[in-house]
Amino acid sequence: PVVTRFAPSPTGFLHIGGARTALFNWLYARGRGGRFLLRIEDTDRARSTEAATQAIFDGLTWLGLDWDGEATSQAAHAARHAEVAQEMLANGHAYRCFSTQAEIEAFREAARAENRSTLFQSPWRDVSEAEHPDAPFAIRLRAPREGETVIEDRVQGRVVTRNDQLDDMVLLRSDGTPTYMLAVVVDDHDMGVTHVIRGDDHLVNAARQAQIYRAMGWAEPVWAHIPLIHGPDGKKLSKRHGALGVEEYAAMGFPAPALRNYLTRLGWSHGDDEFFTDAQAREWFDLDGIGRAPARLDLKKLENLSGQHLTAMADDDIVAAALDFAARDGRPAPDAARLAAAVPVVKEASRTLPQLLDRARFALIDRPVTADEKAAKALDPVSRGILAELTPHLQSASWTRDDLEGVVGRVAEAHGLGLGKLAAPLRAALAGRTATPSVFDMMLVLGRAETLARLQDAAA
Ligand code: GLU
Repeated sequence: PVVTRFAPSPTGFLHIGGARTALFNWLYARGRGGRFLLRIEDTDRARSTEAATQAIFDGLTWLGLDWDGEATSQAAHAARHAEVAQEMLANGHAYRCFSTQAEIEAFREAARAENRSTLFQSPWRDVSEAEHPDAPFAIRLRAPREGETVIEDRVQGRVVTRNDQLDDMVLLRSDGTPTYMLAVVVDDHDMGVTHVIRGDDHLVNAARQAQIYRAMGWAEPVWAHIPLIHGPDGKKLSKRHGALGVEEYAAMGFPAPALRNYLTRLGWSHGDDEFFTDAQAREWFDLDGIGRAPARLDLKKLENLSGQHLTAMADDDIVAAALDFAARDGRPAPDAARLAAAVPVVKEASRTLPQLLDRARFALIDRPVTADEKAAKALDPVSRGILAELTPHLQSASWTRDDLEGVVGRVAEAHGLGLGKLAAPLRAALAGRTATPSVFDMMLVLGRAETLARLQDAAA
């Protein structure tokens, strides 16, 4: 069975690139009945606060990426990492290195002066235990010196590293703490991870990690190093390109399904398909569709997809997303029932949740409706007279769209006006604005009593 994982270092927020990595792992596992695990790489104790970890949980949860079981902490496994380093000592794949930092520096300096490789070559590699001093030591991998370390990467292809370019990496420092390289491999092995899907900034680590797998005789995972996300200008994504944290996209009012769809397409393709549902993404996602060129962030595309998702999402989900957006934005909570009534008539013309809430405003406000400047102009004395005349006709209308159109049309005609001419004062009366959803949509959502009350207010 497939087991994937997302292994973020807590930095205080969920980076949009990290979110995409998590999403690819989630899709790959969920599409194959596999497991998706979360491991917090919190070995940098200073940065790894509880709040920073919580921010990762929150970002993933908002995005709808659920993980299996409890999230694990890498720091909590330090004893296990040390145990594996000891095992490698015992099986001869590692050795004790007593070189001090000063000695290592001196080696490098001499190498530089003589134009040799500055990769440290420990003099302790072949010293027998009997000759070991009673002093602090690091545990180093006895890495192969000849030949090559080859990775078969599902995205990058065959990646070859010459072994004379890899030094005997430290596995356990002299203070007993594991290095990152060891920790990742031990954790991935212990968690049963079958596929490591992560940013290609980690490709250089894969050869070293493979050496540890091979030294332990452990089955290697499938490697898939995905190109990083770049800004619209083709440069590595950074703050000056705009939003980096997932919560910033939530705050802009993109519903989570839209961001999921967008991120899925960012670096992965399925023919010409741009818009798809979660079910389709789970069914279609594979490693073969991941491209080798960095994907560029494109907010216009995201906005387009967002509009399509707001049209396609279930009304209840839209209401929940809009309430979540309003809370994040520090707005007073809109009335859920009124919003739910308006959603069917406003969702199609909205690309983001703030746009949707704005279009739904007519249903969320209370009487008396205050008219903005344009609306006040539309409510001139003649128009107010016509609105007054309209009310008794609406009183007896059957409140279907056909009937409402008929009634309003006849009154407009009696005054020699087109329906359009009557629309502006009606919009002004019902919504206090002149740019609104269709008049009949608003009437149907507001219902007879509220519609008549607003018209009477405006006509008075
Ligand atoms: N902790 C690493 C990061 O945040 C990821 C390590 C991995 O996926 O192997 O970039």
